[in-house]
Amino acid sequence: MLPTKAYAAQSETKPLEPFNIERREPSANDVLLEIKYCGVCHSDLHQARNEWKNSMYPMVPGHEIVGIVTKIGSDVKDIKIGDTVGIGCFVNSCRKCTNCKNGEEQYCANTAFTYNSTDNGVPTFGGYSTQITIDRNYLLKIPAGLPLDATAPLLCAGITTYKPLKTWGAGPGKKVAVVGLGGLGHMAVKIAKAMGAEVTVLSRGEQKKEAAKQLGADQYVATNVAKNIESLAEYFDLVVDTVSAEHDIDAILSTIKLGGVIVLVGVPPEGVKFNAHNIISKRRIFAGSMIGGIAETQEMLDFCAAHKVTADIELIDIKDVNDAYERMEHGNVKYRFVIDCATLN
Ligand code: NAP
Ligand code: ZN
Ligand code: ZN
Repeated sequence: MLPTKAYAAQSETKPLEPFNIERREPSANDVLLEIKYCGVCHSDLHQARNEWKNSMYPMVPGHEIVGIVTKIGSDVKDIKIGDTVGIGCFVNSCRKCTNCKNGEEQYCANTAFTYNSTDNGVPTFGGYSTQITIDRNYLLKIPAGLPLDATAPLLCAGITTYKPLKTWGAGPGKKVAVVGLGGLGHMAVKIAKAMGAEVTVLSRGEQKKEAAKQLGADQYVATNVAKNIESLAEYFDLVVDTVSAEHDIDAILSTIKLGGVIVLVGVPPEGVKFNAHNIISKRRIFAGSMIGGIAETQEMLDFCAAHKVTADIELIDIKDVNDAYERMEHGNVKYRFVIDCATLN
C-alpha cells in the first residue's frame, strides 16, 4: 500500500483536517498519479456536512482531479509516465449493465464514486490528497495546452453542464438561461457560448452583472426583482438550473417557452417544489442530469481544448479549504476554488 497525505472530514460537524490514507499499488490495468490540483465542488460541501443524508466518514472529498502519471500497470498501453490525466466523479462501475455498455456509467447501479462510496467493498477517498490509483478505463486524458489548475473543474462542473447543453440542443438560434452563477453556472455560460447559443444569466442580485458579461453572457437578469422575471415570460428554449439551495422554480418556469426545457443539475438538500400548472399549461419539460459518462467526459475535454474553455479559479492552499467552504456557502467564489495539492506536503 502507498501512504498518502489527505484532508478529511471526520464527521458532519467537524472542519476538514489532515488525515493519512493508503492507496493501492497499481495492478495490471491501473494507473497511479500524483495529484496536482483538485477543484472544490459544492457537492463536496453538501457531502462533507451530510446535507444529502448519505455521508460516510472519514470522508476525503474531491472529484475534480488533475495530475501527472507516476506509475502504470503492465496492461496499460495508451498512457505513459509523465502524461497529464484527470479523474472526475467516479472511479469504477459494473461494466456489464445497459447503462455501462451505453457509456452512461454514472447511472450504473454499482458506480463507485470517487469518494463517499465504495469500490469492491473498499471505501473510496477523493482528490484532496497527493496521489490516487485508478483503473485506466475511468481515467481521462487532459489535452495538451490546457492549463492544469483551471482545467480541474472541467472534470465535474464542465461535464455536468456540457452534457445537458448538448442533450437539449444548445446551439445557434437557441436561447439558453443559466440559473446561479457559481462553479457550474460559469462553466455553463462558457460552454453554451462556445456551442453558439444566446446565453442569459439569472442570478439572485445585481452583484455579478459585470462578471457575467466578462464570461461571455449576452444578458444578465437579477431574479430578486419580480418585473425582471416577468419581462422574460416564455423566452427561453432551455434553462440549466445550477442552484444549490431552495429557490423559486415557478418563477423560472414562467420564462420557458412552449415545449421548452428546464434541466436541474443543482441538488438543493431541501428538494424543489413547483406548481404543476407551470409545466402542464405550456407543455414544458422538467429534466435532470448527472455528470456524464467517461467517453462523453473525454469529448467535453477535447471540446474545451478546441474552444479554449477553462474555469475561472481561485487557487488555494489546502489549509484554506474550510474558509473556501464558508465562502462557497455564501455564493462568494469567482468561480471555482481549486486546491494546489502540493500544499498537502
Ligand atoms: P456554487 O459554486 O456554490 O454555485 C451555486 C450557485 O447557486 C451560487 O453561486 C448562487 O448563484 C446560487 N445560489 C446559492 N444559494 C442560493 C439561494 N439560496 N437562492 C438562490 N440561489 C442560490 O455550487 P456548484 O459547485 O456550482 O454546484 C451547484 C449545485 O450543483 C450543487 O447543489 C451541487 O451539489 C450540484 N452538482 C450537481 C451535479 C450533477 O451531476 N447534477 C454535479 C456537480 C454539482 P447566484 O449568486 O448567481 O444566484
Ligand atoms: Zn462536483
Ligand atoms: Zn453498470
